[in-house]
Amino acid sequence: MGVQKIATFSPSEKTFTGGGTFLPGEVKGIIRINPNKCVGCDTCRHHCPAGAIKGSLGVTHHIEEDLCLSCGQCLVNCPFGAIEQMSFLDEVLSRLKDPDYTVVAIIAPAVRVALAEEFGAPPGTLTVHRMHAAFKKAGFRIYENNLAADQTIMEEGYEFIAKVKYWLLGDKTPELEKFAEHPLPHFTSCCPAWIRYAELYWPDILPHISGAKSPQQMAGATVKTWVALRLWNIDPRKIYTVGIMPCTAKIYEASRPEFKSAFYWLKEKGHLPEDTPPFPDVDAVLTTRDAAELFRCLNINPLNVSPEKETDITEVYTGGATIFGNSGGVTEAALRTAYCVLSGQEPSSWNIEAVRGHTTGVRTAKLAIPLKPLGGKKANFHICVVNGVKNHLEPILEDVVIGKSPFHFIEVMNCPGGCINGGGQPVNPMGTSWIDPLLPLPLKA
Ligand code: SF4
Ligand code: SF4
Ligand code: SF4
Repeated sequence: MGVQKIATFSPSEKTFTGGGTFLPGEVKGIIRINPNKCVGCDTCRHHCPAGAIKGSLGVTHHIEEDLCLSCGQCLVNCPFGAIEQMSFLDEVLSRLKDPDYTVVAIIAPAVRVALAEEFGAPPGTLTVHRMHAAFKKAGFRIYENNLAADQTIMEEGYEFIAKVKYWLLGDKTPELEKFAEHPLPHFTSCCPAWIRYAELYWPDILPHISGAKSPQQMAGATVKTWVALRLWNIDPRKIYTVGIMPCTAKIYEASRPEFKSAFYWLKEKGHLPEDTPPFPDVDAVLTTRDAAELFRCLNINPLNVSPEKETDITEVYTGGATIFGNSGGVTEAALRTAYCVLSGQEPSSWNIEAVRGHTTGVRTAKLAIPLKPLGGKKANFHICVVNGVKNHLEPILEDVVIGKSPFHFIEVMNCPGGCINGGGQPVNPMGTSWIDPLLPLPLKA
């Protein structure tokens, strides 16, 4: 079965004006309903985690921008192809033609198992080395988002360890004092739709959320600082970074005003002329579907390109990063780090299968870690993995707000199954949400 063509539209001036729940510069209206195609079947409303879709059965529906998370779950589940996505493809194509710029692809883990589907391969076909070769042929250099996921896990894993030390082991040394404002349970931060959901609807949860940037944003900042100055010797102002993502909410994330950290660091360190205007860490985001369209525009079929092994350190990563694309992957990678640091030893197995959540909306697990500071005495850590913000998350958040949560670590991914089922992935005509978001699940820790 082939994939469905999704209509796209170009950003307009209005896209960046801010207002309502958006700050100036943030991209809004990334997902829109075409009133000429909508038949009012109401399917999209049942997949929207934010109640942002309005309209009665049989009547044309519309999206209230201020409530929308830009997750694209409505789009991938509309049976009539009536929902469209804003695309920055034209801007990326024009940058690729500009010899002054080094265009860098930051390729997310879930893209490598989905891109081939756009070119007729069976769903799930892994194309890492062909995909790398195809991006290079198109004119990109590569900074693997998986490498950035490795960085994220070091940040987030150590942040969780610090919270454990402060809150559970009573370590009140000065360097841990800031965690007095950031209690357990620790929430993951790499899903921008989840972050916007928390900001709009559950602000009491914000102190619990990790301060680690998502891999996309870590990659953008690293490319324009360390990679530009130390590795490639390129003027950071002449680097154009492109997130290649399974996700439409990543388009929004890249535009958030706080994600100009490379600019501010470079300025502080004297690497930029005084009059340099601020620039973002990530300049543009293409979804998996957009990336496929880019290849079609350039007459490149990634399935016909000879695979190429990694040629640069920026293309190398661990297996812990690859599993980020799946629900439970961030948790598993963070727990591997936490286990090693807190116990002072390697776990008997690197596979923590109990937290792999891609087949259920909520998965809970208990992990016993022998704590080095307590002479190896074991402590149980209670873990919760949620995929699909709709239907499963509210009771978990309520428990946190009233101080009754049994969990120490909670991963939240907006899309059912995680990023592999993101709003930017190839669309099967029968819908891509093959995991039933309405499935009732018991909560046990
Ligand atoms: S799922 Fe598509 S056709 Fe049905 S109401 Fe939503 S936008 Fe309209
Ligand atoms: S993009 Fe996500 S939040 Fe926005 S209307 Fe669609 S399903 Fe709802
Ligand atoms: S789960 Fe992944 S694809 Fe879905 S909104 Fe979050 S980051 Fe994007």
